Parts: sequence; C-alpha cells; structure tokens
Amino acid sequence: MSESKDFLRVRVEEDLESGKYQEVTTRFPPEPNGFPHIGHAKSICINFGIARDYKGHCNLRMDDTDPTKEDTKYVEALKDAVEWLGFDWEGNVRFTSDYFPKLYEYAVALIKMGKAYVDSLTEEEIREYRGTVTEAGKRSKYADRTVEENLALFERMKKGEFKDGAHVLRAKIDMSASNMKMRDPLLYRIRHVHHYRAGDTWAIYPMYDFAHCLSDYIEGVTHSICTLEFENNRDIYDWVLDTLGLTTPRPYQHEFARLGINYTVMSKRKLLELVEKGLVSGWDDPRLPTIAGYKRRGYTPESILNFCDQIGIAKANSMVDVAQLEFAIRDDLNTKVPRVMCVLDPLKVTIENYEGSEVLDAPYYPDDVPKEGSRKLPFSSTIYIERDDFMENPPKGYFRLTPEQSVRLKHAYIITCKEVIKDKEGNIIEIKAEYHPDSKSGSDTSGIKVKSAIQWVSANEAKKVEVRLYDRLFKDESPEGLEDLNPDSLKIIKDALIEPAVIVEKPDERFQFERQGYFYADPIDYSDEKPVFNKIVGLKDSWAKKKQLPRRASKSETKKVQIDGEVAPMSEVEQSLFDKYIGELNLNSEVANTLARDAKLSGFYEEALSHHHSPVGIANVVANEVARELKEKEVNEVKFNTKQIAELVKMVDDETISTKIAKQVFEEMINSGESPIKIVEAKGLIQISDPAIIGPIIDEVITKNPENVEKFKAGNSKLLGFFVGQVLKATGGKANPKVVNELVAKKLK
Ligand code: ATP
Ligand code: MG
Repeated sequence: MSESKDFLRVRVEEDLESGKYQEVTTRFPPEPNGFPHIGHAKSICINFGIARDYKGHCNLRMDDTDPTKEDTKYVEALKDAVEWLGFDWEGNVRFTSDYFPKLYEYAVALIKMGKAYVDSLTEEEIREYRGTVTEAGKRSKYADRTVEENLALFERMKKGEFKDGAHVLRAKIDMSASNMKMRDPLLYRIRHVHHYRAGDTWAIYPMYDFAHCLSDYIEGVTHSICTLEFENNRDIYDWVLDTLGLTTPRPYQHEFARLGINYTVMSKRKLLELVEKGLVSGWDDPRLPTIAGYKRRGYTPESILNFCDQIGIAKANSMVDVAQLEFAIRDDLNTKVPRVMCVLDPLKVTIENYEGSEVLDAPYYPDDVPKEGSRKLPFSSTIYIERDDFMENPPKGYFRLTPEQSVRLKHAYIITCKEVIKDKEGNIIEIKAEYHPDSKSGSDTSGIKVKSAIQWVSANEAKKVEVRLYDRLFKDESPEGLEDLNPDSLKIIKDALIEPAVIVEKPDERFQFERQGYFYADPIDYSDEKPVFNKIVGLKDSWAKKKQLPRRASKSETKKVQIDGEVAPMSEVEQSLFDKYIGELNLNSEVANTLARDAKLSGFYEEALSHHHSPVGIANVVANEVARELKEKEVNEVKFNTKQIAELVKMVDDETISTKIAKQVFEEMINSGESPIKIVEAKGLIQISDPAIIGPIIDEVITKNPENVEKFKAGNSKLLGFFVGQVLKATGGKANPKVVNELVAKKLK
C-alpha cells in the first residue's frame, strides 16, 4: 500500500509546520435528521482520523439549526456510529443549538457595524432581486434601514412578534458579486416551531452559512472539512469571520469529494422515504447503507475503516463500486471467522451401509488462517445435503453428487448414490447412498477420485435455523427512485439446518457457511431456541458478470444479470482447476474460486508456481495484488512477470520480508519492473527479527503511551493491536510482526 498522503493531510502538516496552528482541531458536524450512512463514515474517518494522526482533537457536533426535522433518536444513532467505528469525541457532544445565544450576539455585532440588515421583502421578491449568473442583483430598499431600526426589528423578531417569513436578517455584502451566494446572504429567518432541544425559546433560527463558521470558531476548530457542494459557501465562511475580526485560531474550510456508491441511495431524504413507506424494516435494515444497517447485517468496523482508507480522499466526485465495499468485508472476515456447515435447502440422504454414529473432529479454520480451534461434528446414517448438490441428469461440468458420480462429504467420507426416491409428483425426496469406510478425511486410502466436497449435517443433531439472504436493495446501478428497487433483495429461509456446534459452542458471532457465504447471528432476533442468521456477503462477487456485458447494455439485458446466491456454474476446466486448488493445493475456497474462474489468473498462478512451489502464498498474491493489475491489462502489458512474483513470495516465505513490505515492494514492481530482490536490497527493506533491535523500540512506544498501557492492563486486550501497530509504524513496516506480537505481549504482562 502506498504511503502517500492525501491533500488534506498535506495541508494540515503544512499548517502545523508553519506554526499557523499549534494543534489541529477538526469536527464531524452532522445534522441530526436521519441515521448516518457510509458517506458519513467517510467523513468520520477523515475528521477523526486526521485528529488522531496529528494528536489533535475532533469534536462531534450536532448541526441542529433546522428544528423541523431533528430528533434525539438521530443524535443517539450518530453517537453510536462514531463509537462503533472506534473513535472518541472527548468530552461532551457539541450542539449548534447551545450556541444560539452567542450567535445572536454576533448577529447584533454585525448589525452595529452596518454589515447586516433586516429585510422585509417576500421570499419571492428576494429570489427575484438576487439576479442571475449573468445579471447583477438589485439591493432591497430595506437595506437602508438605520442601525437602530435594524436592532429594534431584529430584537422583535427574536421575541416572536412577527409571523414566519415577515422579515429576515441578511448580510450586507455585494448584490453584484459573481458568486451568487455572496449577494446579501440570509443569516436568520423567523420560524415559530419547537426545537427538540432548545424548546420554544427561539422564534428565529440561524442559517447554515452563519452558524457553521461561528460554531467552528467557538470550538477552536482549525480545519473545517466539508464536501464539495459547499465550495461556493467558503466565501461567506470567510466573510463572516473576517468581518467580525475573529482570529486565533481562525478556522478555514477545505472541501473533499462526497462518497457515492452504486446500487444504492445515500441521501437521508431518500433513506427516510424508504423507512417511512415501510419498504425496509427500519433505519437498521441490513439492506440500507446506514451504519446501523451494516452493523445489523454483520459488517465489522474494521471492514468499513479499510474501505474508507482504500477509496482515498479525492477532490472530484466519483462513484465507487459497491463490490469494493463487499470486497473489504470479505477480506476482513476471511482471516477471522470459523468455517461451519449449514444446509439451506435440505435433501435427505440415508447411508445404508453405515451403522451407529460417530463424532468427527473438524478444524474451524483452513490452513491459511492463523487461528486454532476445532469442533465435534456428529455423523450418522441419516444426513442432509443441499438439494442443489445432487442432480439426476447433470449438465456437463457438474462435479457434485449424481447417480454416476461420488462426492466427498466435507470432513467426512466419500458417498456414492445407490437409489433416488421420488414422491408422486416426481420430486426427489431422498437419496439412498453408500459410504466408503476407508475414505475418511485425513486418512483416505480408498483411491476413489471425487471432483468436489460438499457440506452436510447429521439429521438427529442438526439445529433448525432461520437464514435471511440479503441482496442489493436496488437493481439499477444508479437508482432513480422506488421503481428501481430489487424485488428479490430479501429472501427468508425458515428451515435451514446447521451443525450443532454453531449454536451450542458459539465459537463466534460471524461465520463462513461453507460454500454459501458469510453470516452473522442477528443481534436482535437471535435466540438459542430460534436462531436467526443474516447473510453478510457471498463468497465472491456474483454481480461481476454484469461488467462483462457490452458497455451499452439495455435495461432488459441487465435484468438477466445473476443475483447473489445463484452461483454461475463453472466450466469443466474451471471446475477441475478449482477442485485441484482446494484439494491438492489447500487454497481456501474464495481464492481458489477467483483463480479458477479466470484463465488469465490461473495461467499466471501455475507458471509462478513452477518457479517456486508455495501454493498458498503465491495464490494469495495472485488473487489479490496481481488480479488488481490484470483487471484491465494483459499479462504482456504489465511490468512484472511470474518469476518475479515467485521471488517475491519466496522472500516472504523465508522471512526476509514481511507480507506488509511485500505489498510495498509489489507497488514498486508495478511501476519500475525492477526485480523484487533488487528493490528490497536498494531500499533496505529486509525484515527485522532481532529482539535486540525491536525491544528498545517497543520500550519507547510503551513509555510514550502510558494511558493505553493502563487501559490494556485493566483488561482492554484490543489495545495489543495498537501497540503492535505503533511498533511496526516506527520501523517503517520492517519489523517481523510475529516477533513484535510476542515481544509486546511479553513486555505488557
Ligand atoms: P445527506 O445529503 O445524505 O442528507 P448531508 O450532507 O445533509 O447528507 P450532514 O448530516 O449535513 O449530511 O453531514 C454531516 C457531514 O458528513 C458533513 O460534513 C458532510 O459533508 C458529510 N457527508 C455527508 N454525506 C457524505 C458523503 N456521501 N460522502 C462524504 N461525506 C459526507
Ligand atoms: Mg445536510
């Protein structure tokens, strides 16, 4: 990953270096009129992230100047989102409404300077007088009121003596300014409404442009970061502060691009409509892009933070592919969660030559996940498999159970179909099968070749669970309205069957259901008696096919696109590669899937393997880093080759470099085409594993962070990651993470 800084951080650093500010203070200023969404998450990451990186502060401020739509339940949701993402606003939540008295005083000061006046034109006239982009505006006749007249009227406005719309307070700037926003902008308007916090104290409310800059100033904000649509408001921001002569620290506004994601809507107004019309179950519906929705669905805060980090901060608006967010969650869960078996659409299989029962021991994690643990898996003569995993008349390339083709039951035995039982209508209701006693997983001497392994559960011990399969809420890439809703965005399966350990042992809340996807125990509806699981994300991007359609695909064409869950069948070649990757080479199913389905990648992979036989290591680099580069380029168009990738992985394998550094080296390889060995030598990136060098660095980090040491000792074990991170950072990523982990844990004991 490149270490380059975004333009906001560059600016903050310049301002600190030049001495313009001693300390940086930012704020996250939502209006509490809806639940925060992923766009807000981005803003939270930027504001709180900058404060954290430069040891400053970030306030959480409710920008509550529009009393009609605001509510404390939104305040709570906003606090919850910030906390869930792991940030801390130090002290109290701030409210613009708390500054109303102070803001009133600033308005009076402007009136006294002759810089603001009470205008009594109608709303319509005000609009008319403003002029157009090509035509100067015209000043209201009321602009000539004396200071005394203005003060008296403004006070009476405050006291509630006038009806809504009778008067407004305006800044006296320039009715012919080329920036239309500067044509005597409104500062206050009359509104006889109840404010959820301020009650009925106020009959006038400040406008955003007046309240925001002053709230920033009152709080000592240095960098006021907002989205691009406020670019033209920056002139007012500066005018208000400068005219009032407010200095040190004087905040400045900086704009960045809003985050947009395809297949969803992001404006709070549109989200509110979905909630109010009952088209979703609430603000926390797992299909919504709200933080509450992601949380309920099972997304992890880490995945959201990684996503925000990966998309970066830009100055131009753009649309991010939701697949990138889905990738981030998959990528996070892949290394964390236990693998278990769940059958969504059960088909009974009776194994006629098996007697009694036994308990198998099955690991929760695949080999390439550095976690330990296993569960007891009951096996008996009556089991259930996925209905899809048996076909009587299979098409070519179907590698699961058929009357002619045996299959492996994952972690157990190979079975062969003996008889297909049907009901009167001809539906298959049961399979009679035989198992092969000498084919037990781990000690298979049967010599039988199978092409895949499928999930199953034992009938007696399996638990019934409800599974909620979520898909994209909109079927259109850039949805315009409710007509674009995806009618199949939620499918509820009431009678899925799951292996008992998941419910009884509860090794985790999130799981990979083998071959199905990632799932999360619903935090609200789940109980041991009635377990409910939400699908977080599938194992692969099943919408990716869409991108292969011709650019100008018509709407009817795009409708044929597959929806998650219905996995496109692999070709015969792809399937046999997949089976080899899973079986012989021990790749996890996701990586195997990515490689097997893409001839360019599998070709690249196999060739790299011939240079250095490290199947899992090379597969990971090819399925991630290399895949990214080969998305839009051919193998002969990139500067690196299979041999270099093999060399890169070899250096990781023999611990010359860490995986983190490997990523950095890869970035360099893309650009320069230089060999990884040369890059590592030239840049001195060799991994440091010597405790004598790492030890003192850890000591320094520990001395510098006494509060965190205390919190860790008090039981906040999550902070281990913080310390390890700091040490890695201090060594430019060169320290051997394994060694650092061990040493830090030892030193903090
Ligand atoms: P919406 O238009 O979705 O209702 P908003 O801009 O009105 O959002 P606010 O509550 O005013 O929402 O926003 C709080 C902060 O979050 C602001 O600083 C705003 O710039 C930022 N923000 C809101 N939406 C996005 C987005 N899509 N991408 C990045 N930042 C955003
Ligand atoms: Mg807003």
